[in-house]
Amino acid sequence: MADCIFCRIAAGDIPCREVHADTDFVAFRDLNPQAPVHFLVIPRRHVAALTDLTGADADLVGRLQVTAAQVAAKLGLAETGYRFVINCGRDACQTVPHLHLHVLGGRALGWPPG
Ligand code: 5GP
Ligand code: ZN
Repeated sequence: MADCIFCRIAAGDIPCREVHADTDFVAFRDLNPQAPVHFLVIPRRHVAALTDLTGADADLVGRLQVTAAQVAAKLGLAETGYRFVINCGRDACQTVPHLHLHVLGGRALGWPPG
């Protein structure tokens, strides 16, 4: 989608600090990090939010998480741990309407989240 910022990042039209790329997913550092390590993993295919997923997307979402875990390990988080977050909709403060998984680590994270 031409007017989607994350589609444009996936296409290489907007620069990012990439930490992983393959045929289906791109991972890059968050512009406004909330932890010492904070990156986003997105599918190249435009999916606006969790609410748009169907059963046909189960494989995509599974591989999204496996990819995120592998990148987390590559960035040294496997031993100390990390958190996955997917915000969906207004109450969860989703600001970019292209599905993205946050991976946060490198410090002790509070619980419950805000
Ligand atoms: P959300 O609030 O939708 O779950 O998260 C969107 C995230 O995308 C935010 O953490 C924000 O800092 C990040 N973000 C927004 N625009 C850009 C951008 O152009 N580049 C990068 N690297 N991150 C972005
Ligand atoms: Zn998009």
